[in-house]
Amino acid sequence: MNTPFFDFIKKILYNIYTIKNVERKTNDMKCCFCNKEINGMGNSVRPLIRKENVRCCDECNRDIIIPLRMLEYFSSKENKMNDKEN
Ligand SMILES: [Zn+2]
Repeated sequence: MNTPFFDFIKKILYNIYTIKNVERKTNDMKCCFCNKEINGMGNSVRPLIRKENVRCCDECNRDIIIPLRMLEYFSSKENKMNDKEN
């Protein structure tokens, strides 16, 4: 896999592991990516992080989580195709 997108993901992962206060506070929730306050429930950050109380805002959901899910979907599809060939 190549370049700008992959760098982008690495940067995000780094942010996630360096933000520690996200998990403790459940009342005033902040986005685990951009640290903005979340209005309402926020969005699940699966498949990136499988923790209940880590959430992200709508913008990051749209810009990060959805592309990531699409990427996961297409890569698993590709793997299945490769399996058939072998
Ligand atoms: Zn955000």
